[in-house]
Amino acid sequence: MLTGLVVRNPRLRQPVPAALAGTVVGRRLLRVSRRAKYLLLDFGDGSVIVHLGMSGSLRVVAAGEVPGGHDHVDFVFGTLALRLRDPRRFGCVLWQAGDAAQHPLLARLGPEPLEDAFDGAWLHRVTRGLRAPIKHVLMDSHRVVGIGNIYASEGLFRARIHPLEPAGRLGPQRCARLVAALRATLGEAIAAGGSTLRDFVGGDGRPGYFQQQYFVYGRDGEPCRVCAATIRRIVSGQRATYFCPACQRRT
Ligand SMILES: [Zn+2]
Repeated sequence: MLTGLVVRNPRLRQPVPAALAGTVVGRRLLRVSRRAKYLLLDFGDGSVIVHLGMSGSLRVVAAGEVPGGHDHVDFVFGTLALRLRDPRRFGCVLWQAGDAAQHPLLARLGPEPLEDAFDGAWLHRVTRGLRAPIKHVLMDSHRVVGIGNIYASEGLFRARIHPLEPAGRLGPQRCARLVAALRATLGEAIAAGGSTLRDFVGGDGRPGYFQQQYFVYGRDGEPCRVCAATIRRIVSGQRATYFCPACQRRT
């Protein structure tokens, strides 16, 4: 049961709706799920949608714990509170009545990479005719969500596919290999507690530890862990892209 909603600063990337407390306080939280980078708190006839932006975090704290200057929103559940801290205020706390998937921010998203719908056949189908580099396609949230720069780089390395390979040139076998590699990379990252750059902390306030295991990401100039060739860094689509020129040849 949500017993209180404290909004200390509603000015996030989108304003926290003024009516939100009146809508959700007194309702039971039925389920917590995630879609892309959106956290969905299901209150039955609608959901609170939370995005952490660039620097946000959620922690469970004692409801009476004195807030810091960046602790903008508390969802109070009796003696505990789920506290949103967001120093850069790029996050959001929104309400969607009915099915959260209908919210404009969520309605156009591609499938999740760990869902069954994301398989080699799907990737092959949606990349026909695309001349864009496969890495750009993987990182386009309208095609598939949740594959950031790190995982795209690592997955392409494991699948031995050059990041600039035109997506439409990947045949069924390479598509299947790439999906398997992406799933393996993401699965290992989750098991290791999530990757982290700078600000990420888990609900217990501890950082993630995936970054020790990278094959290529951030390793330019270092030897490939598989073949000892020198890892290269290029900039593509304004993002740093790392690959092994020997393991990942252009076809
Ligand atoms: Zn190599």
